Amino acid sequence: MKIADKNTKAVDLVREALEKAKEFEDYHCFISMNEARALERAKAIDEKITRGEKVGRLAGVPYALKDNYLSREGVTTAAARMLDNFPSPITATAVAKLEAEGAIMIGRANLDAYAHGSSTENSYFGPSHNAVDFERVPGGSSGGSASAVALGIVQFALGSDTGGSIRQPASYNGVWGMKPTYGTVSRYGVVAMASSTDVMGCFANTADDVDLVMSIMAGKDPKDSTTLDDFWNKELEDAKPKKKKIGIIKDFMGDGVNPEVVNTVKDYAAKMKKAGFEVEEIEMPIMKYGLAIYYIVQPAEVASNLSRYDGVRYGHRAAEITDLDSVYSKTRDEGFMPENKRRIMIGNFVLSSGFFDAYYLKAQKARTLLINAYNEAFEKYDALLCAVAPAPAFKFGEKTNDPLQMYMEDVMSVPPSMAGLPALAAPAGKSKDGLPIGIQLVGPRKSDQMLLNIAKTIAEVK
Ligand code: GLN
Repeated sequence: MKIADKNTKAVDLVREALEKAKEFEDYHCFISMNEARALERAKAIDEKITRGEKVGRLAGVPYALKDNYLSREGVTTAAARMLDNFPSPITATAVAKLEAEGAIMIGRANLDAYAHGSSTENSYFGPSHNAVDFERVPGGSSGGSASAVALGIVQFALGSDTGGSIRQPASYNGVWGMKPTYGTVSRYGVVAMASSTDVMGCFANTADDVDLVMSIMAGKDPKDSTTLDDFWNKELEDAKPKKKKIGIIKDFMGDGVNPEVVNTVKDYAAKMKKAGFEVEEIEMPIMKYGLAIYYIVQPAEVASNLSRYDGVRYGHRAAEITDLDSVYSKTRDEGFMPENKRRIMIGNFVLSSGFFDAYYLKAQKARTLLINAYNEAFEKYDALLCAVAPAPAFKFGEKTNDPLQMYMEDVMSVPPSMAGLPALAAPAGKSKDGLPIGIQLVGPRKSDQMLLNIAKTIAEVK
């Protein structure tokens, strides 16, 4: 990470990032820029350095903020018309922590509206582009963040991951992406999607940069009762793999997975062996239910979380309203994207009396079985290896007419989300067309740094 000091001015770091953002404007990584405020903050940091005062661990480092994090700088849209002019009265804890260390937000990164999606095609403001192939999606929902890091506009970017939204775009753009253990980073001040799996994480170009950013964001927050004590900076003993054994999830190496992706995972496993790990296949038949569990539980939580957008409390309100019902229905019709509405409808359906037992309750029971299967696997293995997504980045429009096709993207990324486990996406290879392919390492709760350490070691194996 390039940090401001006596020889490097924060103002220059920020200017350079803003210039690159302009140069790559067509990629539409950002919904809005924070130019004036960013330069002002950079100047203040430079003055501190000149006066010989102490500055933070991320002094002057420009970053992109996924536009579902609240910050008092600018508006937070969540890429939805519902919030397209919403000036936040608060700042998310994660953002406040980064800024206390001197990080400077240069712009709000694009996403699928409310983080529902895998391509940024659900953004009210239009999609972002893949950093490697302009004709392809950057992945989603945190596509703008991943693309901004891959294009070299910023050194790191924040994302949120409910079922793959950090890992899949990281894989599609060839950068690192960390979905931490559930509860590692406060969710306070982040637009809620599915509260039982939402986690806050980041993108960067190296394992060390990911580690640094995560170590700053991690920790207990009285404003989010689900946060864990800061294990990131304390349990260093856990950061070493003890068994030196890795399981490759066999169920994700066969049908429906692009052969180039399968080969990338195999090559990665070979490198792990070279590095002294024992690597063997493990069958986890429960994995085939992961997607079904996710697409019941997650919409149920979405339906509940999005009920707050009623045209009364905040955000958009439809202009032509005649009575209370039309305040709700017109506002919600105008404010949400089609995918948001689909999830609200599925969610209310699976929660409705008569269907609750058959869908929601059953999915939660299956979720417990999934958690048990992981726990059993971790008795034997330090971590599990699989791809992040079944194929490299797809072209715009390829999956927009078939939501199920789009949901299939998430088949490998949702199981760790349902179990609250840490999952790391690391760049691993390229398709013959030059498209990045990432691998995913999943470990027991709080093994986040161990995953980073393993992947860092493997990145150095030739
Ligand atoms: N692609 C997944 C979905 O659409 C994951 C989204 C996310 O993690 N925010 O639900």
